[in-house]
Amino acid sequence: MNIKAAVFYKPNTPFQIETLQLADPRVGEVLIKMGSVGVCHSDWHLMTGATPHPTPCVAGHEGSGIVQEVGAGVDRVRVGDHVVLNWAPNCGNCYYCLHDRPSLCETFVKPIWAGTMMDGTTRLSMNDRPVFHFSSLACFAEYAIAPQECCVPINKRVPFPIAALIGCAVTTGIGAVLKTAHVERDSSVAVYGSGGVGLSIVLGARYARASRIIAVDRVASKRDVALRCGATEFLVADGSTVDRIRSLTEGRGADYVFEAIGIPAVQEECLHAVRPGGTLVLAGISPVGSSTNLPGAIVTRQEKTIMGSYYGTANTAVDFPRYADLYLDRTLPLDLLISKTYALDQINEAYADMLKGDVARGVVVF
Ligand SMILES: [Zn+2]
Ligand SMILES: [Zn+2]
Repeated sequence: MNIKAAVFYKPNTPFQIETLQLADPRVGEVLIKMGSVGVCHSDWHLMTGATPHPTPCVAGHEGSGIVQEVGAGVDRVRVGDHVVLNWAPNCGNCYYCLHDRPSLCETFVKPIWAGTMMDGTTRLSMNDRPVFHFSSLACFAEYAIAPQECCVPINKRVPFPIAALIGCAVTTGIGAVLKTAHVERDSSVAVYGSGGVGLSIVLGARYARASRIIAVDRVASKRDVALRCGATEFLVADGSTVDRIRSLTEGRGADYVFEAIGIPAVQEECLHAVRPGGTLVLAGISPVGSSTNLPGAIVTRQEKTIMGSYYGTANTAVDFPRYADLYLDRTLPLDLLISKTYALDQINEAYADMLKGDVARGVVVF
């Protein structure tokens, strides 16, 4: 079938809207009519070249839609299911899956980073030449083919834009609080970054009943949404951010500090906002090959714990439906995260808005 998609050709050039050919789903694969896809920073890492990837490719990994057709052997979903797409599918059989760490599953890592389906080939093409699938999902398109392991059915009452965010920002942020760090009631929490992931951390911290939730961002325009998500204070980042966090936490620093951006210099600053004995959680994705200089002298003497959190330590088959149900019963007001919607052919505008920092999360709706 012919589909419209946003194609990425090479770093530092805009997406081009093209007509591509999408082949039928093969064994274990699912054809999805896209409902919505989020405008996430991880796709931008492709655009800048920070994440190397075969091209041309279709990006977009924070997606939701309706199962349109299934290939042979598909037993996890049925035609008509509403699904959230999982960009780190888990096999259920490898060492990590069997040891309760499915977000670290290693089975699919190689084909995913090769930009193909699990058999090493693409379903997307243009004039008989292959077009690669970012994250084996390629959501910036009217239709996508994904391995069934990437498709998690959820309640059909959840709107597609909310479902899309559950596929990345929400699970990454709320999971970092509940499943990576296990934040306790009455804790103090500081969150650097008030985009989709940072605000989801704020929502998670409120759900965990943290007593003080300090949201930090480089732009003041995020104040209102951060406070509505549950932040008790909002700080515009400047040279005094660490001092201000300490003064809000009796001079000690916060029990938990989350970095939701993935910038090494910010990760380094965050360590100083953690109280002795407290925990730094790195939840933002840094560019491949970057490194962060965290002083061992302080980490040891002050017994600070540093945790990486990837995809919110998720078990997606359980967590996606759970976060969806917490949205439906109004426990998690995920609507607050979506500040703007776009059509697919406005994708470059959507990324320009994201880079300006004014939007919490933009979503493309089909
Ligand atoms: Zn993402
Ligand atoms: Zn596995």
